[in-house]
Amino acid sequence: MSGDPTTRGAEPTTIGLSVVIPAYNEEERLKRAIPPIVRHLRAANRTFEIIVVDDGSQDGTSAVTKKLAESLPGLQLISYRPNRGKGSAVRAGMLAAVGDLVLFTDADQSTPIGELDQLLAKIEHGGYDMAIGSRAIAGAEVEETQGWHRVLAAKLFGGASRLLTVRGIADTQCGFKCMTREVAQKVFPQVTSDTAIFDIEMLAVAAREGYRIAELPVTWVHDQDTRIPYDLRRALRIWGELFRIRRAQKIGWPLQANTQPRRTAS
Ligand code: UDP
Ligand code: MG
Repeated sequence: MSGDPTTRGAEPTTIGLSVVIPAYNEEERLKRAIPPIVRHLRAANRTFEIIVVDDGSQDGTSAVTKKLAESLPGLQLISYRPNRGKGSAVRAGMLAAVGDLVLFTDADQSTPIGELDQLLAKIEHGGYDMAIGSRAIAGAEVEETQGWHRVLAAKLFGGASRLLTVRGIADTQCGFKCMTREVAQKVFPQVTSDTAIFDIEMLAVAAREGYRIAELPVTWVHDQDTRIPYDLRRALRIWGELFRIRRAQKIGWPLQANTQPRRTAS
């Protein structure tokens, strides 16, 4: 494990960007995901680290990461057992990250790493604290191969989460989000959800803290191969989780996300 995730990110360093990849049984997809990320960041002349968080995988996720790290010193591994869920993995990585800016992205690279540039621009020059990818606003290019029932379920859930938790964000669930380390260090200790809907809680906390959030249209190429299976039992559990998050965060009226930049933006 690469240091204690609860303290490592509090140390100042000279790393510009941390890329956090939650990984559950990702030995194959990681091999495909990491080289293009490295190429992109090197071409952009950024100092960076990549943190793979092995979320209790049963396959060779940790072994593959260690192997890749032999030729890539900036690649870190955090691993724990048993599997706890995407929210737990992202939180561990975000709290361990030492970059000035921190991105989390899915191992299947459904949002290609090239989309990072517009997110960084909003934070570095646009007066925002956080910039998140979106499949639900004008300009997004979604290669939609999810089944219609999953799309419908996601729409219903999105509507409910706006009524019950946080408003002002069209797509809370895109696995491609960037923020300053300072924001990550403030927000993630307050995120209690280990599940795939931790994003909603993260955005609710960020909204309550008054952070400025830019939602930007991205390309999304859906990968059918999923580590987050969906069925009726799981759907019910996710709805239950939404109400648990409301209680955990003591949310009455839904929190309004601040989507305007600071006026001091250059
Ligand atoms: N993931 C995780 N723990 C889990 C399930 C998923 O860390 O228990 C990670 C997974 O490895 C991937 C990301 O969460 O990096 C999103 O998973 P996936 O792409 O399979 O989800 P989908 O796009 O189908 O919703
Ligand atoms: Mg995916």
